[in-house]
Amino acid sequence: MPIDATQPYDDNNIFARILRGELPSKTVYDDEFALAFHDINPQAPLHILVIPKGAYVSWDDFSARASDAEIAGFVRAVGQVARDAGLVAPGYRLLANTGLDSHQEVPHLHVHIFAGQKLGPMLAI
Ligand code: 5GP
Repeated sequence: MPIDATQPYDDNNIFARILRGELPSKTVYDDEFALAFHDINPQAPLHILVIPKGAYVSWDDFSARASDAEIAGFVRAVGQVARDAGLVAPGYRLLANTGLDSHQEVPHLHVHIFAGQKLGPMLAI
């Protein structure tokens, strides 16, 4: 079910539980501001999710409420994860679904990194 990006933060969402170590993840990056791990249901040969450590529902919530340090740390982490995976030369796609029309399903901000093949048109509707 897609989530409403204006809803309050739910402490028991699946990514909050991964951040607390209550659920496993195939982690590829971890620092003060961000955690990155493989998507459980990959939509490309490489599909990584990068999430902020703070409790933010969506891109909207994060961009409105996060501190400058959190925003800088998170954005740099997304770039670092892609760089570490060797994706700069072949290229990659970032996606942050936000709310109902985007079909965001997990109510904790996550940026998808897709890579590993030609990714085709930007949107398939
Ligand atoms: P959204 O549709 O919210 O942008 O994307 C949610 C993503 O989270 C989906 O690609 C889905 O496969 C992934 N996902 C959902 N539950 C889990 C989980 O427990 N572990 C991992 N690693 N990914 C998950």
